[in-house]
Amino acid sequence: MSLVALWIVALVALIAVFTLPLVVPPLRRSLVSRPLLVRFRQVMPRMSQTERDALEAGTVSWDGELFSGAPSWPKLFAIAAPTLSPDEQRFLDDEVETLCAMVSDWETTNVHRDLPPDAWRYIRERGFLGMIIPKAYGGLGFSAYAHSQVVTKLSTRCASAAVTVLVPNSLGPGELLLQYGTDAQKRHYLPRLACGVDIPCFALTNPSAGSDAASIPDYGVVCEAEHEGRRVLGLRVTWDKRYITLAPVATLLGLAFRAYDPDHLLGDHEDLGITCALIPAAHPGVEIGRRHMPLNAVFQNGPTRGRDVFIPLDWVIGGAPMIGKGWRMLMECLAAGRGISLPSSNTGMAKLAVRATGAYARVRTQFKLPIGRFEGVEEALARMGGNLYAMDAMRVLTAALVDEGEKPSVLSGIAKLHITERARQVVNDAMDIAGGKGICMGPSNFLGAAYMQMPVSITVEGANILTRSLIVFGQGAVRCHPYVLREMAATQERHREKALHDFDGALYGHLRFAVRNFARALALGATGSHFANVPAGVAPAMRRYYQQMTRLSSSLALTADVAMATLGGALKRKEKISARLGDVLSQLYVCSAVLWRFERDGRHGDDAPFAHFAVRDAMFKAQAALEGVIDNFPNPLLAALMRRIVFPLGRPYVVPGDALGHDVAKRLIEPGPARERLTHGMFIGSADEPVGLLERALEATIVAEPIERRIEDARRSGAFDARLAPGEGAAERVERAHAAGIIPAEERDLLAAQRTLAARVIRVDDFDRDLGASLLRPVDGARESAPRDATRCEGALPPPSSDEAANDDVAPGRPAPLPVNS
Ligand SMILES: Cc1cc2nc3c(=O)[nH]c(=O)nc-3n(C[C@H](O)[C@H](O)[C@H](O)COP(=O)(O)OP(=O)(O)OC[C@H]3O[C@@H](n4cnc5c(N)ncnc54)[C@H](O)[C@@H]3O)c2cc1C
Repeated sequence: MSLVALWIVALVALIAVFTLPLVVPPLRRSLVSRPLLVRFRQVMPRMSQTERDALEAGTVSWDGELFSGAPSWPKLFAIAAPTLSPDEQRFLDDEVETLCAMVSDWETTNVHRDLPPDAWRYIRERGFLGMIIPKAYGGLGFSAYAHSQVVTKLSTRCASAAVTVLVPNSLGPGELLLQYGTDAQKRHYLPRLACGVDIPCFALTNPSAGSDAASIPDYGVVCEAEHEGRRVLGLRVTWDKRYITLAPVATLLGLAFRAYDPDHLLGDHEDLGITCALIPAAHPGVEIGRRHMPLNAVFQNGPTRGRDVFIPLDWVIGGAPMIGKGWRMLMECLAAGRGISLPSSNTGMAKLAVRATGAYARVRTQFKLPIGRFEGVEEALARMGGNLYAMDAMRVLTAALVDEGEKPSVLSGIAKLHITERARQVVNDAMDIAGGKGICMGPSNFLGAAYMQMPVSITVEGANILTRSLIVFGQGAVRCHPYVLREMAATQERHREKALHDFDGALYGHLRFAVRNFARALALGATGSHFANVPAGVAPAMRRYYQQMTRLSSSLALTADVAMATLGGALKRKEKISARLGDVLSQLYVCSAVLWRFERDGRHGDDAPFAHFAVRDAMFKAQAALEGVIDNFPNPLLAALMRRIVFPLGRPYVVPGDALGHDVAKRLIEPGPARERLTHGMFIGSADEPVGLLERALEATIVAEPIERRIEDARRSGAFDARLAPGEGAAERVERAHAAGIIPAEERDLLAAQRTLAARVIRVDDFDRDLGASLLRPVDGARESAPRDATRCEGALPPPSSDEAANDDVAPGRPAPLPVNS
């Protein structure tokens, strides 16, 4: 036998030694699966019920594809673009427009310290608090998309109004009742919530349990007591909650607490688990505290407490059978609600910032040029445009998934985290561009309120650091990976043979999955992914991105498996690694949403720069995150090997180029269809409102610029004497150009009108020296009160007397909110 043949035999034997135990099931079970199962059982921390509930909540959809290493693109394009029904569209055009005209950030914060009474009334009467409640219960029965559109539009106008509306429609009594309420509870409460007769809040957060909400110390003890003249079984509940939105005006308190049954009145268990109940705020013992002031936004927010407050069992949402199931209920509702509320409000704030700042950057000149034409400002504008395009794409795609019946727990976490982070970046960029105009507060400041509100969005519904470090990948890897959850379940299985059988099946699948992704990552990396599949019929300019995303998806799947295999349970504590893996998944979702949106919007060539910018930026960020994971693998040899596999030819993704940035920025500083589509759904208002004024000033500036250029050309050619005396300015120069016949009288008047509008835009507010008192003084102009006819809740909500109107938001028996001008 030749030496070569010997080598081949040796190689085959070696491969057989390693592969046979894997491919022959009995061998694999005894030699691989059994010892690995024993090891897994030792190292895997036992999962608590709350951890299990969080992991199992919600559904997996497109996130599963992104994690698979080979996304099936037809599944992405099978998600239909959501549309509004005629009723929903009319509500946006009429009710939402009217409400926007009734409220402004400046007045709510500085004049009313609350929404104006008329606005409160309008919100309650017109069903804003019951958008998600079905029509059968008197609600508006809106889709998730319509709900999102309403919140987005309100957020372009007034953060406090948006928060007031979004809270009852997201994670709160309404959603919990719809999903889990008993028939009696639904029949009693849903019509009252829909009509605004009841104002709900939901109280989970305790001073000692914020992010770690599952550890709330609030408790309820099962006991018997007198209730409405009868002895009934119930719970004696004690709680101390803070930061609760709408609590100061709520009439219905949703409450989460841990239920205990020490006397075994309900069964064998003593610790029954987290439980959600609905308690009328007027119930004896319920204390509603004073108000918090969340960063100068005056939506109602405050603490609530209670000590040994008895509630009957049928106040538990879903009744006695749902005692102890509260965490699961909250996680399920969060899976959908989190994808709508903050993504919508933050996209709204970003639309406001982009549209207003784009206009401002054209109207405001320095060094004789609109500031938006300087490359430095252009860079910030480009980031704003790219970010907003991606944010809106994610918002709509997530709403579309919810409307298709998904409860996208991982994708909604990604949407919340990345839309709020991008909103923060957008608003910060806008503040830099606006300069002092953004800093000096007053009725004409279009940005300061959004800037101040940002940390609220970052913190609520899962603070962003926690969401990035623990949730996105922690939950994503387990939920989206095709085998990990099955492996984990097998390690928790008590029946030994079933455990081995399940584990072996999952492990074998996992091995094939890992080998396939190893081969794909290597091949796609080595060929620059040029041969990867592209979905049929997509825009040719975007084809390459699908190939690059497939490559990133394979790299993510492989790197995640390597991280889980080498770090095991420690990965949970290695938050930086876990966060970066989550970033790759998140940026892949951003890219998917952008490509989906571009196709669904009709592939407008004019929008292409936004889409290119957003995808390239996201891919570059995904690459940086992957590098961050690989470089920080504890084993340097493994890190070097992984770098060779994932980036065999170096770093393939680059930041969006300057020319592309220019194309994005120039679309923001001039009116046009791309700018309209990007900021679609905004409240603009009249020229007396900051954004309405900016729009008119922008239009006037676009008209004025060519006239100015003609005057300048004439000056340069010496066609008229443009020398100015001290104290003279643009007006005199224009007058001389007109006198010299360079421009006709109409053009002179257009320039004068532009100067007036620009001066109004550039002006900032000032106040009396006693800033505090003057801030609280109502601004000029009487407010037109909301239409009161045709209320949806006739009979349910009696019209207030004129005395009541001033305190319209005070629930019976409840402390009044801060009075106007207090
Ligand atoms: C304006 C406002 C409105 C609110 N409305 C409501 C409401 O209606 N109902 C309600 O029940 N609650 C509400 N909340 C509470 C909100 O959900 C909590 O503020 C939030 O959960 C964070 O808790 P915390 O503020 O105590 O911060 P902490 O839990 O103290 O967290 C502080 C920081 O530590 C980080 N962190 C914590 N643990 C980890 C970890 N393991 N890994 C990495 N980072 C971590 C967090 O990300 C955060 O950055 C509201 C809060 C605010 C400010």
